Amino acid sequence: MVALENSPLFSQLAAEELRPLRAAATELRFAKGADIFKEGDTGDGVYVVKDGLVHISSLVGSNTRHVFSKINPGEIFGEMAVLENKPRSATATAAQDTVVYFIPRDTVLALVERSPRLAAELLREISARLREFNRQYISEVLQAERLSVVGRFARSIIHDLKNPLSIINLTAELAGQPDHPAESRQAGLDRIRKQVGRINELINEILEFTQGTSHTFKLTPTNYAAFVAQVADELRPDLAVRDIAIEFENAPPAVTLALNPNRLRRVWQNLAANAADAMPKRGKIIIRFAAANGEITTEFEDTGPGIAPAIANTLFEPFATHGKTHGTGLGLSICKKIIEDHRGRITARNEPGRGAIFSFSLPVAKSA
Ligand code: ADP
Repeated sequence: MVALENSPLFSQLAAEELRPLRAAATELRFAKGADIFKEGDTGDGVYVVKDGLVHISSLVGSNTRHVFSKINPGEIFGEMAVLENKPRSATATAAQDTVVYFIPRDTVLALVERSPRLAAELLREISARLREFNRQYISEVLQAERLSVVGRFARSIIHDLKNPLSIINLTAELAGQPDHPAESRQAGLDRIRKQVGRINELINEILEFTQGTSHTFKLTPTNYAAFVAQVADELRPDLAVRDIAIEFENAPPAVTLALNPNRLRRVWQNLAANAADAMPKRGKIIIRFAAANGEITTEFEDTGPGIAPAIANTLFEPFATHGKTHGTGLGLSICKKIIEDHRGRITARNEPGRGAIFSFSLPVAKSA
């Protein structure tokens, strides 16, 4: 139980300031669960909890009530509507059997005008409450964001697994029929193998993403021109099937870079796969190289529509996907991780009249 004059807000007042306050204050009792005031009520005064507990809540959506503040004995509530002369923006409810002091608006305003100390104290109180509200709000938003990331993750994995699994299921049934011609059984087996490959790729992508940098990540001095020639040869057949050509604007520099060729190959594969996804009819991947400030920059440009503005700011974040039914949103975040493990940088940009341009820079090996 806290007497009015001992509440932190009023305890600093001089005796002559306390007298009118005490005279104007009335004690009110509320049983547990009773509303002290409701959203929309007039802000006719402030309250100080003498005994009990008060919850300040507001309606979120059509029927969920969210408690955003808990007021303990000695603490004040209801001051904002009084100072602003506006209706109550929240509801105050007795969370236990509660006794409060009620001080009418006129008395509070007259006191605030007379006592700079009270005004400052009130300001401090409101500021602390806003700060607490922000803290709570931010942590709730973060939590909701985390949950939605987990949800998106689960959804995209389930989606990506379900498709190949149902194809395998159907094909296995057909291929297993003894009266089926041998070649159609063979075609079925090939289709199953391809789908198993897809599941494997997906699992590897998730493992790669969740493991972070593996202990086996090693950089070895590698001739970049030779590396590029090999990766391009590996990429060409799959891209050709989709009517996509790789074009080199200039030759890759024959310098030595500290590379993990397996990992860097993944960056090339992901960038090429994304470019191909952006050009469903046909198109070109234009690759160019530049050397400056001890770095080799590789640019991937495509002839697709460019990066959608909706995703531009979160492109390299995990699970950021846009405009694809099968996107996991992991590809570019894996690219970023790999490039950073090479002590390099990766960026993306759009330029008018051109497709997406991805650019990554890798440091030239010191001994080169
Ligand atoms: P995913 O491809 O699984 O969606 P990524 O991280 O690889 O995940 O890519 C994230 C998003 O970036 C894609 O969904 C797409 O919207 C956009 N994006 C990536 N590459 C390109 C590109 N070459 N052209 C246009 N948009 C692209």
